[in-house]
Amino acid sequence: MDWCRLHHGVSTDPKWRLIAKRAGVRVGDVLSVWTYMLDYASQATPRGTLAGWEDDVCAIALDYEPEEIAAVREAMQGRTLDGDILTGWEKRQPKLFGHWRKDPARLPPEEWLQVRRAILIRDDYTCQYCGARSDKMECDHVVPVSRGGSNDPENLVAACYDCNRSKGSKLVSEWLAEVEA
Ligand SMILES: [Zn+2]
Repeated sequence: MDWCRLHHGVSTDPKWRLIAKRAGVRVGDVLSVWTYMLDYASQATPRGTLAGWEDDVCAIALDYEPEEIAAVREAMQGRTLDGDILTGWEKRQPKLFGHWRKDPARLPPEEWLQVRRAILIRDDYTCQYCGARSDKMECDHVVPVSRGGSNDPENLVAACYDCNRSKGSKLVSEWLAEVEA
């Protein structure tokens, strides 16, 4: 089983109190959301980020209102979150277990988020496979990294969640053959 780790003293770190105050919630609420975030980020691509995060999903899991989750997330900005990136992730997590560490062809999280943003803007948040348009677009490697695809903009397109999951690490030709079969 994969795992992520917490450093000693994290539960009593005074910054949670500050965040709780900013968000208008209790310290325990912040810790709940933070634990959920760590678990999420540990499994996200790129790892250590909130890529694809939805307040609603977290709210349902923890029995909060989405607005409460949003308030905590906002209050974390500049403290434990830097945009979509969990602050200090690289320092805290065991490197051997990081998915992208296993795969040196992948860009580090900060760089990937910048590239992804540029691609989504270029493609106008429109899935290049099915034409769907949404502000929740993902960025797909046309030729997957695992198949030797690069991080060049020519190999990157905006893709919706469904197309990206369905395509997975297949080449477009393989994927189409599968979908049409
Ligand atoms: Zn699509």
